Amino acid sequence: MRIINLASGSDGNITYIENGNTKLLLDDGLSCLETVKRLEKIDVNPNDIDAILISHEHSDHIKGVDVFSSKFDTPVYAHENVWSGLDGKLKKVKNENRKMFDNRFTFKDFDINAIEVPHDVKCYGFSFENENKKISVLTDLGHINDNILYSIKGSGLVYLEANYDKNLLMKSVKYPLSLKLRIDGPRGHLSNNASSQVVEFLAKNGTRQIVLSHLSRENNTPLLAYNSICENIKKQGIIEGQDIMIDVAGPNISTMFKLK
Ligand SMILES: [Zn+2]
Ligand SMILES: [Zn+2]
Repeated sequence: MRIINLASGSDGNITYIENGNTKLLLDDGLSCLETVKRLEKIDVNPNDIDAILISHEHSDHIKGVDVFSSKFDTPVYAHENVWSGLDGKLKKVKNENRKMFDNRFTFKDFDINAIEVPHDVKCYGFSFENENKKISVLTDLGHINDNILYSIKGSGLVYLEANYDKNLLMKSVKYPLSLKLRIDGPRGHLSNNASSQVVEFLAKNGTRQIVLSHLSRENNTPLLAYNSICENIKKQGIIEGQDIMIDVAGPNISTMFKLK
């Protein structure tokens, strides 16, 4: 299995994941043109994408889907609960390419678990499994619950939201109070501190690599997210670089990871 973030953060999210002959996009939150450019940079022909999986209807996750799917005849998969919000937004996707998945489903070389997460619209994280290898992608969630932790447990690699630093968010002069409360609320996004607790849980359960994802452009920085999470887990006796590795994804193409 190999996986790479082609874009991550407030301005657009795309993750490419591949196993054997199966090539998937998880969300497509940049324009189709930009998505194609980025796929070409990693030597993937857009015609070879087997499907686009959608986490939820927000534009930073679906901006390119309509044009990409109609241009390359790509099937688009979303949970039934998510399609109700997508139908009006994805008008160019052909009827035969509108596909639904259940919470657990097999797609070619992947066993996929769609994990419902608390966000202000219906939203899903994903675990991808093959031959005892497991990768999870978890962004756009206001808080963590036991079901989510149970679902991502045992992943070798987890893409995990670290959206905002609470002090920066609350001090922001750009955001109205209502937006601050939405982001910080139980159906908003994960703060660096909340993310630390998930990293701690994962490190104690054998995960070796974390990629901090979906950082806010305004209320976080890669260094701040990395440092605060490293400091928090250190208090619990977990050392970054020794017990677990932490990388940060940003708006540009980030590191490719392979699980063998
Ligand atoms: Zn998002
Ligand atoms: Zn969202």
